[in-house]
Amino acid sequence: MTLEITHADKAVALRPRSIPQSMLRGAAQKCPACGEGNVFSSYLKVNDACPSCSEELHHQRADDAPPYFTMMIVGHIVVALVLLVEDLYAPALWVHAALWAPMILVMSLWLLPRVKGALIGLQWAMRMHGFSGKEDEVFSLQQAEAPKP
Ligand SMILES: [Zn+2]
Repeated sequence: MTLEITHADKAVALRPRSIPQSMLRGAAQKCPACGEGNVFSSYLKVNDACPSCSEELHHQRADDAPPYFTMMIVGHIVVALVLLVEDLYAPALWVHAALWAPMILVMSLWLLPRVKGALIGLQWAMRMHGFSGKEDEVFSLQQAEAPKP
């Protein structure tokens, strides 16, 4: 199946993009298009283009979604573990603090770039923002307030 996107003056047939494959490649911090080049140039800094296949990655708009999903995932795991440990062993509060604070920190820092990569993979697969090859339409407040001629 091919997807056809009509631009202003021409119709372009586009190859389908697998959402699960793109998200898995992103979660591995690899380019969603080729799975070879790194998505990130540092911890969370996204490369403008894939160093391997030159796919443009600067269109991504992960914004606040990666920390949101990271907190949701880590919170569900840690809260379940806290309740389990409290129920089984009822340790002193300092034991809870010593156990969970470092675990939350390590899990969050480990998960954050993987979640961000997966979300970039999702955006790429769904051709969101500029990933369709078409310039993204950004609605600005300035445009909204501009007087009509
Ligand atoms: Zn690539």
